[in-house]
Amino acid sequence: MTGSPAGRCTVIVAGAGIGGLTAALALSRVGFQVRLLERAAAFEAVGAGIQITPNASRILVGLGLGEALARVAVTPEGMDVRAGGDGRVLATAELGAAIEARYGAPWWAVHRADLQAVLVEAAARDPGIGIAMGRTIEAVARDGDGVMVTTDGPAGRSVEHAAALVGSDGLWSATRGLIGDAAPPAYRGRTAWRAMLPRARVPKGISDRRLGLWLGPGAHLVHYPVRSGDALNLVAVVTDPVPRAGWSGTGDRAALLPRFKGWTGQARALVEAPDSWMTWSLADRETWFGPGQGPMTLLGDAVHPMLPFLAQGGAMAIEDAAVLAKALTALPDDLDAAFRAYERARRERVAAVQRGARANGRIYHLEGPIAWARDAAMRLAGGRQLVARYDWIYRFQA
Ligand SMILES: Cc1cc2nc3c(=O)[nH]c(=O)nc-3n(C[C@H](O)[C@H](O)[C@H](O)COP(=O)(O)OP(=O)(O)OC[C@H]3O[C@@H](n4cnc5c(N)ncnc54)[C@H](O)[C@@H]3O)c2cc1C
Repeated sequence: MTGSPAGRCTVIVAGAGIGGLTAALALSRVGFQVRLLERAAAFEAVGAGIQITPNASRILVGLGLGEALARVAVTPEGMDVRAGGDGRVLATAELGAAIEARYGAPWWAVHRADLQAVLVEAAARDPGIGIAMGRTIEAVARDGDGVMVTTDGPAGRSVEHAAALVGSDGLWSATRGLIGDAAPPAYRGRTAWRAMLPRARVPKGISDRRLGLWLGPGAHLVHYPVRSGDALNLVAVVTDPVPRAGWSGTGDRAALLPRFKGWTGQARALVEAPDSWMTWSLADRETWFGPGQGPMTLLGDAVHPMLPFLAQGGAMAIEDAAVLAKALTALPDDLDAAFRAYERARRERVAAVQRGARANGRIYHLEGPIAWARDAAMRLAGGRQLVARYDWIYRFQA
């Protein structure tokens, strides 16, 4: 396949989430014309936060988005891990300048709407990217050396031809099904409850500059500031035997509060503070990049959806985008080979991060003597280990 960037051949990117938008920017920067197809009629961001760790912020900065993101992100000063039962600090780590010094890139906490706005504005300004909203991928086929993609939308069905296809359509990826893996994601026995608290509603004693993690039997809590500290992003994760109807929706506070009975007052105050909650039944599935033939591949949650307990799902999608652009730069005249090189480069790393996220999920919700042993081990290891043990994640360079 001849896909010389000089000729600006077209790559279809299916799905304009964090991964698809970053991929569009990264591919355009290395000379490809990108057609970004998104199912939603308009960009809507979830009212929740996201942590962008240095492995991902480094890439976004490299794409020229550093200043725009720094304006909307908070750089948390530190992270405190506490026992939910009595509120004791188990470990505390410095983030902020310490992270910049260690990894050469920031650790950001951002409102998803702010991150999306920065990515969408950059994509809209880029002449190499065309965005089509309201287009749902329905069928995919090989077309000579390239691909033929059928979409449906308010204006009816349409067929587009391109040199290559990157499916970045998320956890429930239609592209993944269409190119060969129709097995659905697997529910992992946890529900994430998410809320956004305005600063005035944040319980006393909860820092608007630090990240907090509280561990307890069958549940944990995460919070961090977003929007210059004007809001606190709150996530409560609880063990649930079955997924919630519809997988995501709104949650009834009265059902959540009993899960934190017996927790220390400050943790309960956090859970009691929001008026409304959104819920996500958490699922993942094994890493699968596609059939390994032709100019089609997958990226982000479509390949490797992961549990959020390492805060890496979005970061891995951003890394994917950078590695894909690099592979296409190295092999611009052979898109098939470039896609295989990208898949080889990513497979082990994303699977390792998926495993790490699952392991953290188990550790966070321990009960009884084994939870006591976990707490003792954390106190012994100290805060530096909280971050340093993930050097292999945060030091990543594409
Ligand atoms: C509670 C929770 C907390 C998290 N916290 C973090 C964190 O702190 N840090 C982090 O890095 N990650 C975090 N994640 C993970 C992160 O949100 C995801 O990994 C990330 O959003 C995946 O991006 P994506 O672009 O691959 O998929 P998505 O963001 O799901 O985007 C997929 C896009 O494809 C579109 N689409 C779907 N189907 C079609 C179709 N048929 N045709 C066309 N378009 C389609 C969708 O509308 C959507 O726009 C968290 C996840 C959860 C649940």
